[in-house]
Amino acid sequence: MSNINSTAVIGVIGAGTMGAGIAQVAAKAGHPVLLYDAFEGAAQRGVEGVAKGLSKLVQRGKMQQSDVDALLSRITVTDSLDGFAPARVVIEVIVERLDIKQSVFAQLEEICTDDTILATNTSSISVTAIGSKLKRPHNLVGMHFFNPAPIMKLVEVISGLDTDKAVADAIYDLSASWGKSPVRAKSTPGFIVNRVARPFYAEGLRVLQEGAADEASIDAIVREAGGFRMGPFELMDLIGHDVNFAVTSSVFAAFFNDQRFLPSLIQQELVSAGHLGRKSGKGFYDYSEQAETPTIKTEAPAPAPRNVTIEGNLGVAEPLVALIEAAGIKVSRIQEGFGAILIGDTTLQLTNGQMTTYRADIARSSNLIQFDLALDYTKATRIALAPADQASPAAVLKAIGLFQAIGKNVTVIDDVAGMVVMRTVAMLANEGYDAVNQQVCSESDVDVAMKGGVNYPFGPIEWAKSVGLERIMNVLDNLAKSYGEDRYRTSPLIRRKVAGAKS
Ligand code: NAD
Repeated sequence: MSNINSTAVIGVIGAGTMGAGIAQVAAKAGHPVLLYDAFEGAAQRGVEGVAKGLSKLVQRGKMQQSDVDALLSRITVTDSLDGFAPARVVIEVIVERLDIKQSVFAQLEEICTDDTILATNTSSISVTAIGSKLKRPHNLVGMHFFNPAPIMKLVEVISGLDTDKAVADAIYDLSASWGKSPVRAKSTPGFIVNRVARPFYAEGLRVLQEGAADEASIDAIVREAGGFRMGPFELMDLIGHDVNFAVTSSVFAAFFNDQRFLPSLIQQELVSAGHLGRKSGKGFYDYSEQAETPTIKTEAPAPAPRNVTIEGNLGVAEPLVALIEAAGIKVSRIQEGFGAILIGDTTLQLTNGQMTTYRADIARSSNLIQFDLALDYTKATRIALAPADQASPAAVLKAIGLFQAIGKNVTVIDDVAGMVVMRTVAMLANEGYDAVNQQVCSESDVDVAMKGGVNYPFGPIEWAKSVGLERIMNVLDNLAKSYGEDRYRTSPLIRRKVAGAKS
């Protein structure tokens, strides 16, 4: 299939939240764009919305008025599907209903040429199913943009069972020529992003459900230690619990109730109560004017230790050693050991996915305190600690004092397997590896998708590698042992990679 150059006509059907933005992206790249919406005046309103957004860019000096005029002149509103006859590619961006999408594409097949590419922006419907009613299903491909389409870099290019590889390649190249970061995926529930992102919400919800910490503190740990732009609860409130719960439930059902994707009762309760998040004024947080700012649990100042001993190598947490030395605390090292910071009778270890109480019992070391993963220990402004039930209050104070001495806010959470950032990252990577193992996409596409589609600070797979895949595997195995739930089963691909790297 030949390249689609910038003179090719692009048709966009549906001028709502996503369609208008996609029309803008295509017109910006130089294409003549045809825009149609079934509801009278909607396409015109879509163009006006684009014009309004662009005028703000002109005001901020980010775009020239002449470029805006040229871009807008390339978008033509049509009042019937017949207008799509000259289109090289038609992108469908209408209501998320299988029957309606199938009917619109069937009409387009009668109007367009035999080699017109038909693309769907569906976020949850099988591309194979949409294509099943078409005469030329090989011409149908998923072209999944993220909201807002002009800003978000990611486009998931989805192949259904009958999609011609050349068609998917052409849409991949076209997306790249529009300045996007495309990835390829097979038509499977949630594609890449809506599948791999599930644990980001699910693990936060589990930690909350078990009462290990409140939502504001979990959000703060995920942002300030995990490096994510938003924590799971503020993000769910922004997305809307109706939408987020519907996505989780549909992925769960589409995987034939695989426990991996089990929805949360807490979220279901919010939906039942109509507490949908920002849009209803209340979700996990209260958005009314009189609402108080939620309190993040932060420990009061504790004395800094004078000296510590590092036993073995701390692995991904090794940068802590330089921070401790820079804080003027004397550090001595013992080569042997499993990676621990000793402050007198108190032991600090990076969480291994076991509850600290259980790990302390096995190690016969009662004053054990686990600390959570950070994206970058040097830059993190907060660290979570989980003491064993057996640990003395004095031991907990020593751990708090150490992290405060290196400039961190400290949040002590109740004992929960895998803590907050570690279990979230391990489960994101687990899902990413499972998608790769099941031939949905490549490893690098998982990382590109999660960074470009949902702004993760690091791709889950590259993150797992930087933590050490064996450590991630141990965390997952320990989570699985702790809960005895299929949700936490370790992806076979992780186990295989760890074993392969050893021999
Ligand atoms: P929207 O409701 O904002 O816009 C849909 C538009 O399609 C409306 O203007 C409606 O009038 C029009 N429409 C409905 N039926 C039509 C038909 N038969 N023919 C022509 N026009 C019709 O919806 P949206 O949020 O832009 O979502 C559109 C599609 O994009 C859905 O498939 C959705 O799953 C997908 N999507 C949405 C997002 C998002 O964040 N909103 C992100 C990615 C993908």
